Amino acid sequence: MTPTLQDCRERDALEPLRPLRDLFALPEGRIYLDGNSLGATPKATAARMADVVQREWSQELIASWNQAGWVDLPQRLGNQFAPWLGARQGELVFTDTTSINLFKVLSAAARIAAEDGPARRKLLTERSNFPTDLYIAESVCAQHGLELVLLEPEQILGALDDETAIVLLTHVNYRTGAMHDMEGLTAAAHARGIVCVWDLCHSAGAVPIDLHGADADFAVGCGYKYLNGGPGAPAFVWAHPRVVNRCAQPLAGWFGHAAPFRFTPGYAPAEGIDRYLCGTPPILGLSALQCGLDVFSAAELLGGMAALRAKSLALTDLFIALVEQRCAGHGLTLVTPRAHDRRGSQVCFARDGGGACAVVQALIARGVIGDFREGDGGLHQDILRFGFTPLYVGFEEVWHAVEQLRQVLESGEWREARFHQRPKVT
Ligand SMILES: *Cc1c(COP(=O)(O)O)cnc(C)c1O
Repeated sequence: MTPTLQDCRERDALEPLRPLRDLFALPEGRIYLDGNSLGATPKATAARMADVVQREWSQELIASWNQAGWVDLPQRLGNQFAPWLGARQGELVFTDTTSINLFKVLSAAARIAAEDGPARRKLLTERSNFPTDLYIAESVCAQHGLELVLLEPEQILGALDDETAIVLLTHVNYRTGAMHDMEGLTAAAHARGIVCVWDLCHSAGAVPIDLHGADADFAVGCGYKYLNGGPGAPAFVWAHPRVVNRCAQPLAGWFGHAAPFRFTPGYAPAEGIDRYLCGTPPILGLSALQCGLDVFSAAELLGGMAALRAKSLALTDLFIALVEQRCAGHGLTLVTPRAHDRRGSQVCFARDGGGACAVVQALIARGVIGDFREGDGGLHQDILRFGFTPLYVGFEEVWHAVEQLRQVLESGEWREARFHQRPKVT
């Protein structure tokens, strides 16, 4: 039996992570299922930003680099969040964007692979990886004389061979929500001497991650999705201690120098992950991000990642069950894996007969915010995508979201012309 609205309310009332929702400034009357694209706003962010601008910057001015600890924010935030990734102190920094960090680590990985075996000439990744990952990989391949090989997920294991230099994988796929076995794939890659780079954009803060347990080489990830750092928040970069000092990354900016304030003319990379910094840290962005990370520190006291993961799976299970029961007959097909160990924190449906984009827009007009991702006209279909951030989404909201979806489909209102104009950002 699928749960009733009353069941969902009771579940919310008993739910141990419920107090965390009060740490977010969510708008009344809307159900936010897009935290996998842009996380919600922590209530603390506005006051923190005001303090940084009005006191640290306006009053203390340049002294704040030392006094307010601005200069160490990339490392401090890295240390604060490291345990959530199975990383150790001093191994993680928040800096630049995921795209830029990916460029740094792929370039370093290409240099390491070239040292280890000049015969290695391929960079493997998934064809449905996030586009920026594909574009950056293409650019790094062009610079290092590597061939970019695009694979379907089930082909990856079999494609790892002695000619492969690097495998770049996104842990949870942005379209399907399918999750890779990080430990198994990393072990298979290492058995062939391949450098393993993981993109954690859709998994950091949403699913358990153990970078040391999986023995990954490099990882990058996003600050504005599940970490709730705000639009364009700084991203993170991590390198295993065994590879971090093996070479310099190519964006040799002064903040990655061993002694930036000696102002020496020649570049000497810092020891450790600091060499992955480049220019001056974006203090406003890092300060907002800190409020997002502080929510995780609060979550630690309520059961940590085990509690978050249990709730995320319960939310996505509930959504799948309710959609399949209450929206049956409307051509929706689940794209996200049903198996818990293969599922991230989002659920996607394809729709027979098209209209995925219009259905999402009609839902948004009713206050249920999900999003739409376009297919490629081939293997990958247009999808309706719904993210479930266990920090703030509740079970009753899942019930209402499905009810609104049912009404959109049953009434056929999504066919109205106003839902067929495609916005610039989907
Ligand atoms: C969101 C996302 C990005 C974003 O990269 P930016 O440089 O922040 O724009 C990159 N890769 C993946 C897999 C993502 O999901």
